[in-house]
Amino acid sequence: AKTHGRDQHAVFNEDLKFRLMERLALTKDLKQACDDLSFELVYQPQWNMERDLWIGAEVLIRWHHPKRGYVSPAEFIPLAEEQGLISVITEFVLTRALEEMRQAGIGHLQLPRLSINLSRKALLDQHLMQRLFDRARSKPEQRPALILEITETAAMENLQATLAAMEAWRQQGIAFSMDDFGTGYSSLAMLKQLPLSELKIDRSFIQDIPQDRNDEVITQTILAMARVLSLDVVAEGVETADQAAFLTQFGCATMQGYYFAKPMPIGELKALLEKDNAT
Ligand code: C2E
Ligand code: CA
Ligand code: CA
Ligand code: CA
Repeated sequence: AKTHGRDQHAVFNEDLKFRLMERLALTKDLKQACDDLSFELVYQPQWNMERDLWIGAEVLIRWHHPKRGYVSPAEFIPLAEEQGLISVITEFVLTRALEEMRQAGIGHLQLPRLSINLSRKALLDQHLMQRLFDRARSKPEQRPALILEITETAAMENLQATLAAMEAWRQQGIAFSMDDFGTGYSSLAMLKQLPLSELKIDRSFIQDIPQDRNDEVITQTILAMARVLSLDVVAEGVETADQAAFLTQFGCATMQGYYFAKPMPIGELKALLEKDNAT
């Protein structure tokens, strides 16, 4: 039994060592990718049922690792935050997205809104904010209106600093959306304090509609709450006609998910907008 225990221990150590090495290698490659800016962007359009058009799109970053292939942002964004690389990435995403929109001739008439994910450290980075202000200022009347998506945990970690940063962005005409709404611990009181214009209902509440009665009630409650607070709502991760019908019935106008469209490169987005958005 004793040897067995030691073997287990050795296996565990080997495994841990392997994972640490992997992580170290990934960190090194991520740093390189940040130097080379070797990321790509895809856009997932959002359909508005009331206006019958693609009302916006969310920008999502893609990293194709030279050896590993596709690495999910769910894996490398937290690593980037930890390694102090998130500001570089955020600046890249915003700059490249606006550049691609301009080159493709997608202005606010073609696409009213563009949403960008902003992680906590990026939101609180004053230097980054200043650089981004300069970028976002150019011809704001022509580009889609910008919406920055933040998460509840990000907002709550340092409420005063968050409020100040959001206020500064808002002065520049930039709106905020609460991403993954319902998965954190934000109170109604806090929601009221934050200068938000939109809530995104988290995919985890949408995925089991109509089987899960609890998720249906939570979704209805979020929609009712958004109405009281005069916030727009986007349901994310909508994959079926049943889900879309349920959401429509309870007053959710805007939806994002594979049922409507998958994330796509700028060229495909342009074609989709030309086909469906009458301008
Ligand atoms: P998120 O902000 O919640 O983004 C939505 C995720 O759901 C995306 O995953 C999207 O591809 C996926 N998705 C969309 N529709 C459906 C659907 O119908 N079903 C399912 N199962 N999934 C759907 P993705 O692109 O892998 O991104 C994962 C997360 O990584 C994002 O979650 C976001 O937190 C982060 N992320 C992505 N791009 C950026 C970025 O440029 N900056 C920052 N800071 N974070 C990013
Ligand atoms: Ca998001
Ligand atoms: Ca989300
Ligand atoms: Ca569930």
